[in-house]
Amino acid sequence: MTEVFQEISPADFFYRNRDIAGFTNPARAMYTTVRELVENSLDACEMQRIPPNLYIRISEVKETSKSTSIYEVRVEDNGLGIPAEHIPSAFAQILYGSKYNLRQTRGTFGLGGKMALLYGQITTHTGTLVVSSTGKTEACEFQLMIDIQSNKPIILSKRDLKTRKWHGTIIQFQTEGDYLRAMPKILEYLKQTAIVAPYADITFIDPRGRLYRFLRATESMPPPPRTTKPHPHGVDAETLKRMIATTETRNMKEFMKKHFQRVGDATAKKFLEYADIDLKKDPKRLNPGEIVVLANAMKNYEGFLPPDPSCLSPIGVKLLETGIRKELNPEFVAVTQRQPSAYSGFPFIVEAGIAYGGEIPRLNKIQLYRYANKIPLLFDEASDVSWKVVNTLIDWRRYKIPTDGPIAVFIHICSTKIPYKTVGKEFIADRPEVEREILNALREVARELSAYLTRKQSLERQKKRLDVFLKYLPKIATYSTKLAEKEKEPEIEALLSKVGKYE
Ligand code: ADP
Ligand code: MG
Repeated sequence: MTEVFQEISPADFFYRNRDIAGFTNPARAMYTTVRELVENSLDACEMQRIPPNLYIRISEVKETSKSTSIYEVRVEDNGLGIPAEHIPSAFAQILYGSKYNLRQTRGTFGLGGKMALLYGQITTHTGTLVVSSTGKTEACEFQLMIDIQSNKPIILSKRDLKTRKWHGTIIQFQTEGDYLRAMPKILEYLKQTAIVAPYADITFIDPRGRLYRFLRATESMPPPPRTTKPHPHGVDAETLKRMIATTETRNMKEFMKKHFQRVGDATAKKFLEYADIDLKKDPKRLNPGEIVVLANAMKNYEGFLPPDPSCLSPIGVKLLETGIRKELNPEFVAVTQRQPSAYSGFPFIVEAGIAYGGEIPRLNKIQLYRYANKIPLLFDEASDVSWKVVNTLIDWRRYKIPTDGPIAVFIHICSTKIPYKTVGKEFIADRPEVEREILNALREVARELSAYLTRKQSLERQKKRLDVFLKYLPKIATYSTKLAEKEKEPEIEALLSKVGKYE
C-alpha cells in the first residue's frame, strides 16, 4: 500500500482541529462564539474611539438533543465597519484580517470571529448574514458561506441597503451549542468586560428572553492603540528577510532607521559596527547567512532604547476604578498603573486594582480578575502568572489583609504581543519581566488597602470607646449630681464630642 499525500487549506485545518480555537464542546463553543464576536465589535469601536453600543441576542431555533440546540446569534455594533470589498474575506476566509500588524488589539490571528462562523456552518449547514458600513458609503448586506476545502468565501447574495451615515457591523448566523451550560461564563464574561470598558453600553438578550444591561458609566475612553514598527529585539531572520524583500531603502543605515522603532543615525551606526556590517551595504545584497548574523546581533545588542510604549492603550486608573465601582460596588478601591516595561522587544504596561467590601462576596480566597489587552480571561486561572503572584508570591499577612475577606484583585496587561502560553488565549506565561511588574503593581495597591483597613480598625476602636462613654457618662452625671446635692446636671455633650475627637 502507498501513502496518500494531500494538502489541506487553513479552513480545513481548523475544521479538523477546532479544539485549539476554543470550540471543544457545545458549551465552550457557545461561550467562545460570544467572546470572539464581542471582541471584534469592541476592537472596531475602540480603534476610532467610538463609545461602543453592543447588542447581542441569542435565540433558540430548534432543540437538537437534551442539552444542545441550534441557536441564532446576532451581534450588532456601532464600530468603524468594514469596506464592502473586504467583507467576504474578513468573515469567510480563515487567517484574513486587519490585525496582523504590530498593534495592541484583542484579535490577533485573523481567526476568532471566523472560527465562530465556521463552527456555525459545520453544525447547521447555513451561512452568515453580514451587514456593515463605514459610514462613508451605503451599507452592504452579504449572505456568506466558507468553502472549507479551498478556504475561499462563497457569496450567496449581496445587496446595498439605503442607509445614511450609519456605521457599524451586524452579524447574524446559526450555530449549535449548549447555552444553559455556557450561561454562567457568558454572563461573567460580559460583566468583566463591562469592568474594563465602562464606556461601553452592552445589551444582551438570552434565549429565554432575559435582558441583561451593562450601562455606560462614562463617555471618556482611553486613547486608541497605534500601529508601531518592530523593535530590533523582537525580530527574527524570517521577518528580516521579508522586510528586506519589500524595503525601498538602499543602504543598511537607512534600512535600520526606516524599519525599526527608536533607531536614529547614531544608534544605527553603532549597531552596524557592532554587527560588523557595512553601513553602505545594500540590504538586498545580504546573503541568507548574513541575515541570520544580523538577526542574532539585533537580539543581543544592548545599545537600543527600550521599545516605545506610546503605541499601547492601557485602561487608565480612572476608568479602571469607574468600571470596578460600577459593576461591583465595593467599599474601597485602589488602582495603579505601572511604568511601561518590555520583554523580548515588545512593550507592555501592567495595571492593577484591588477592591474590598461592599457588594464583593466573601469567598474564602482572593477573587482574581485577569485581563489581557482588555479581554477578560476566564479559564485555566491556576496556570496564569497573575494567579502565581496573588497566591504564591505576595505575603498578604505582611499587609494585614485577610485572604478570606471580601477582596477582589484585578490585573490587566496590555502589549503589542501578549505572552500567552497557548493559542486558546486563556493564560499568560510567567515571563520574569511580566511577573515582576505584576508583583510590584499588586504591592502598591495592597499597601493602600492595608492603610485603609488599619484606619478603619482604629476608627472602629474609637467608636467602641465612645459607645462605652455614651452608655455610662449620663448615669455618672446623674449620680454625681445627686451625690453633690446639686440640682443641675453637668453638660456632657461637650465632653463626649471631645472624647470622640481624640484617640
Ligand atoms: P481577528 O480579529 O483575529 O483579526 P477575526 O476573524 O475575528 O480575526 O476577524 C477578521 C477581521 O474582520 C478583523 O481583523 C477585522 O478587520 C474584521 N472585523 C471582524 N469583525 C468586525 C467588526 N465587528 N467590525 C469591523 N471589523 C471587523
Ligand atoms: Mg477577532
